[in-house]
Amino acid sequence: MKNIEQHLQDLPEPYRSQALKNMWWEDKGYKCELLSHALRQAFNWSVSPEKYRYWNQLHTVLVDCEKNNVPFIGFHTCKYCGVITQQPDKTCYKAP
Ligand SMILES: [Zn+2]
Repeated sequence: MKNIEQHLQDLPEPYRSQALKNMWWEDKGYKCELLSHALRQAFNWSVSPEKYRYWNQLHTVLVDCEKNNVPFIGFHTCKYCGVITQQPDKTCYKAP
């Protein structure tokens, strides 16, 4: 089983760098089965520079990937609505 840091290394950028920067390093040895669980344990989302909503959205996408056995690729923050998805921005309901 991977520890939290090893799980966070599986995130695509920019989420990987942001998550590793926020991580509570004393939790380094804690092991868990899923990346979504590791993200929940890694740091306090609310006091991170990206704030709770950002990580909660990423967490939702990770849970969907884990449920459907889809690789953790193609994530991005929509430039129109700020939601994190695996969809291109042009499918956004707020896209012009
Ligand atoms: Zn959008």
